[in-house]
Amino acid sequence: MQVKKLVDLNVAGKRVFIRADLNVPQDEAGNIVEDTRIRASLPSIKYCLDNGAAVMVTSHLGRPTEGEVRAEDTLAPIAVRLGELLSKPVRLIRDWVDGGFEVKPGEVVLLENCRCNKGEKKDNEELAKKMAALCDIYVNDAFGTAHRAEATTHGIARFAPVACAGMLMGAEIDALSKATENPARPLVAIVGGAKVSSKLTILKTLAQKVDQLIVGGGIANTFLLASGHRIGDSLAEPELVKEAQAVMDIMKARGAEVPLPVDVVVADEVSALARANRIPVEEVGPHDRILDVGPKTSAKLADIIAHAGTIVWNGPVGVFEHNQFAGGTKMMASAIAHSDAFCIAGGGDTLAAIAKFHIAQDVGYISTGGGAFLEFLEGKTLPAIAALEARFND
Ligand code: ADP
Ligand code: MG
Repeated sequence: MQVKKLVDLNVAGKRVFIRADLNVPQDEAGNIVEDTRIRASLPSIKYCLDNGAAVMVTSHLGRPTEGEVRAEDTLAPIAVRLGELLSKPVRLIRDWVDGGFEVKPGEVVLLENCRCNKGEKKDNEELAKKMAALCDIYVNDAFGTAHRAEATTHGIARFAPVACAGMLMGAEIDALSKATENPARPLVAIVGGAKVSSKLTILKTLAQKVDQLIVGGGIANTFLLASGHRIGDSLAEPELVKEAQAVMDIMKARGAEVPLPVDVVVADEVSALARANRIPVEEVGPHDRILDVGPKTSAKLADIIAHAGTIVWNGPVGVFEHNQFAGGTKMMASAIAHSDAFCIAGGGDTLAAIAKFHIAQDVGYISTGGGAFLEFLEGKTLPAIAALEARFND
């Protein structure tokens, strides 16, 4: 994968347009709840500022309707936080597509929510050309939206004088390539979370590549069903039992396997106060909900992780938000932290689990992508990265 990289370019005196992913969670009053994405975008912005570029940054936020900026759509709170983190004021520019605003070298401005512009989501060419005209160098640092072809992630890369990957984008490409192109074996994938349907393609692709495929959460319940187990009232997708069976067949044909839970933690409801019971998987009753893997299963999974060469992790193996159902995910997190394997992790709730169990320093690479992370691992061509590749030679 060959793309131009920001760090290889001379940006002094240049107008640099950075498409970042500053789509942070906010509370109802608009306060930023969690600012990891803003912090992850700082290296590229600082590099440009330190080297004398005039810097424009934009991002999407939430799900606006194109053509209007409602109160909840504005990047104003992001501009404030970015200013705090950079220790310099960050002006917010509205109605920026046609230009008409000044940015001095060494200055950074934030361009209002790019998804408020008409034509953004449809990758409109006229819009992309106008935005490209604002800059000398286009930088894509928004890995989280790299799987979408939109005007600021794709179209603009075709028309800007120079198009390159920012530092975050570059790091994501390097780390994910390392785990997929020639991974140290055994390659172990952990796919957990709520639904098989949202992760079916990744399960099928991984089944062809990995040595061990650990399934957890609601996904494991569907696999248990497929293997003829009773799962009571557990979250599962019975209509996808055949697909789960197909994944197990692919693995078996390769002499690999999908280890299924031998013991589980059940309750009759999903709540902070629910009473949890550890039982063998054969003893799940008709009103039980499986909400975590049991200790025997955890130990088995930890052993697999301990012997891995590379680990790819997406999705918790239980309802880790409640402590009585967090044991399996915690044990796995600890095994990952102690393992010598190169581990890449991605997914909103996976990142929450990593934070909860304090293992961030011990994970090889934490991706900022959810959908983009999964699509990259599936081997799909991400349109935003393809657009940068197409500009590698000019
Ligand atoms: P990610 O955001 O990392 O991709 P998902 O969104 O797919 O992960 O899944 C995370 C959610 O799955 C969590 O909210 C967790 O509570 C839920 N979950 C995990 N195990 C179970 C289970 N056994 N039953 C119901 N929900 C589960
Ligand atoms: Mg999630």
